[in-house]
Amino acid sequence: MTKNKMTTKAVISTAVLTLAISIVPTGNAFSNIEFGLIQAEASTATHVAKGNLNLRSGGSLKDKIILQIPKGGKIEYISGSGIWYKVKYGTTTGYVHSDYITKIETVAPETPKETSATHFAKSNVNLRTGASTKHEIMLQIPKNGKVSYISKSGIWYKVKYGTNTGYVHSDYLTKIETVAPETPKEIPATHFAKSNLNLRTGASTKHEIVLQIPKNGKVSYISKSGIWYKVKYGTKTGYVHSGYLAKIGAAEPSKYPAPSTDTPGKYVEDILIVNKKYALPSTYNPGINATAKKALDAMIADAKKQSVTLKNTSSYRSYWYQNTLYNNYVKKHGKAKADRFSARPGHSEHQTGLAFDLGGVNQAHWFEESFANTKEGKWLASNAHKYGFHLRYQKGKEDITGYMFEPWHFRYIGEANATKIKASGKTLEEYFDIPGK
Ligand SMILES: [Zn+2]
Repeated sequence: MTKNKMTTKAVISTAVLTLAISIVPTGNAFSNIEFGLIQAEASTATHVAKGNLNLRSGGSLKDKIILQIPKGGKIEYISGSGIWYKVKYGTTTGYVHSDYITKIETVAPETPKETSATHFAKSNVNLRTGASTKHEIMLQIPKNGKVSYISKSGIWYKVKYGTNTGYVHSDYLTKIETVAPETPKEIPATHFAKSNLNLRTGASTKHEIVLQIPKNGKVSYISKSGIWYKVKYGTKTGYVHSGYLAKIGAAEPSKYPAPSTDTPGKYVEDILIVNKKYALPSTYNPGINATAKKALDAMIADAKKQSVTLKNTSSYRSYWYQNTLYNNYVKKHGKAKADRFSARPGHSEHQTGLAFDLGGVNQAHWFEESFANTKEGKWLASNAHKYGFHLRYQKGKEDITGYMFEPWHFRYIGEANATKIKASGKTLEEYFDIPGK
């Protein structure tokens, strides 16, 4: 009998215990009172009876019952390594079935930590008292029974199953997948580092540095821990001091040079040029140009007289409105595509208050290349210059303007300018020899 084995007896399953107690003869003629035993609290007690328990004269059921140890009775282990232990109860020495006694814990059990299940049984598997098949079976873990891994002993795992701790052959266990974060979604970057910044293993400067995020490095915010943010940088997750992070704005910083606030756009002769090269500051906020609006109204009225119904679908747009519009297009179509038909904030002619988008009766052709083939589109192509409007983004000139053909977009430049430039068949960029992008 090893000390180890005695310990394992203490963890025998409840199921076995119930069965054990039921087979202990209960109609016993003996009692403690009849024997007049004084329950001396032996300081040497090593075990306690799990239920009423017969103390016999020998190590078998055939041996005579000396007395019945009541449930909770303390006994002292003397010897024995099989299923029968020689013990001392009070002053009486005899034999008890080892299944019916529990070792008295001398060491205070550690704070019972809630061990979460780590594995499950692939099939019915024995939980044993030690790391080999020679060790006794404590109980059988049913198929799919969950256990908590404690430690390893070769191919045997020490595990906890319910309240029992024992050994199982690792071949019969399958690891429970840690609830995997569903389809790993690409977390968009939310912040950037204002300067070189340490990514740490925890939310304090005492924690180890995982790596250094370079200035302007983009991170994705995960959660907050005081002034520390848990973030993802590339494939690494860690903590950074939030003071060194700046939120990435909704707007992508323009790759174009920031326009000066006192020189809005570029003037060529008396024409304000706004294109992918020349931009307006966010403060340039003129609203619809009155002269242009008057010309527009005249054009729409004249067209109406010729049974051509023109609708003004878009006119003045502020820098910030364009900012929202452009970002929405980028979200929907991607940057490359959006740049072909939508201007970045500051780069839209609509911010000048001099540009108008027009459509016809059929809305299906609004903002579509097909508008060029409608009655209204054709009328505009032939007549807009007479009212001072220039077809700004012409067919086949994408390389010059940076925009796809927009048969609906007209820019007011005055009747004289519009007429001579239309006659040239050129874009504003070509006519004045200025860069378009
Ligand atoms: Zn337009």
